[in-house]
Amino acid sequence: MKKQRFHKHYKRNTPSFYWILFLYLIIGYFFPAIGFMALICMIGPILTSLFRGRYWCGHICPRGNMYDRLLSKYSPHRPIPKFVRTSGFRLFMIFFIFAMFGIQLYFSWGEWNGMGKVFWNIILATTIVGVLLSFIYAPRTWCSFCPMGTLSSWVSPKRVPFPKSFTSVHVSDTCEEKCKICARVCPMHLVPYTSRFDKLGYLDGDCLKCKNCIQACPFKIIEMKNLS
Ligand code: SF4
Ligand code: SF4
Repeated sequence: MKKQRFHKHYKRNTPSFYWILFLYLIIGYFFPAIGFMALICMIGPILTSLFRGRYWCGHICPRGNMYDRLLSKYSPHRPIPKFVRTSGFRLFMIFFIFAMFGIQLYFSWGEWNGMGKVFWNIILATTIVGVLLSFIYAPRTWCSFCPMGTLSSWVSPKRVPFPKSFTSVHVSDTCEEKCKICARVCPMHLVPYTSRFDKLGYLDGDCLKCKNCIQACPFKIIEMKNLS
């Protein structure tokens, strides 16, 4: 019997941004100084998360957009390995990637092209890893332990008072937790239905606010609510 896939490609009606990543990698190869533009995608998600959670990862990041819009069509959608989501592994990845940055920047300090190349190299290397993981496990496997995603998840609001712009997924307590379709279409393999009695909603810092779960629930009992 054919094994049922854990998740499926879920069509999003959001604009395509992944071409920005391709453009960055192509132009950066010839003009390494533009590598510095990676800083936007390093600082942006963390700043946004302070007010909106991992909204940047779900809606703006060109690489995340590539996973959802492009690679999701070809990924086997296998479960993301549990160990990559542990705090220990995520902490290790933060130190590892920042150590790589630090060492390479040290040796190219003062030379704009050289320093830009450091950013370009890291984006290229992590993109290759992310693409490979998409074909082995699920499209957003990398996003489960990406250092910027981890920091964004950690600074995401989790208790009252919430910022005005913060929203969270709310599951009605009429959910019987039988179908669990919301979990099967979640790109981060989260389990929103487990929050059905929680008045504050689903506050997992890794929620991308993508609304896949809302769209997919056959009983239409999930909504995104503002908590302020
Ligand atoms: S998809 Fe809807 S009905 Fe099914 S488990 Fe999730 S919230 Fe409950
Ligand atoms: S819980 Fe819902 S909104 Fe959050 S990442 Fe998963 S599918 Fe998207």
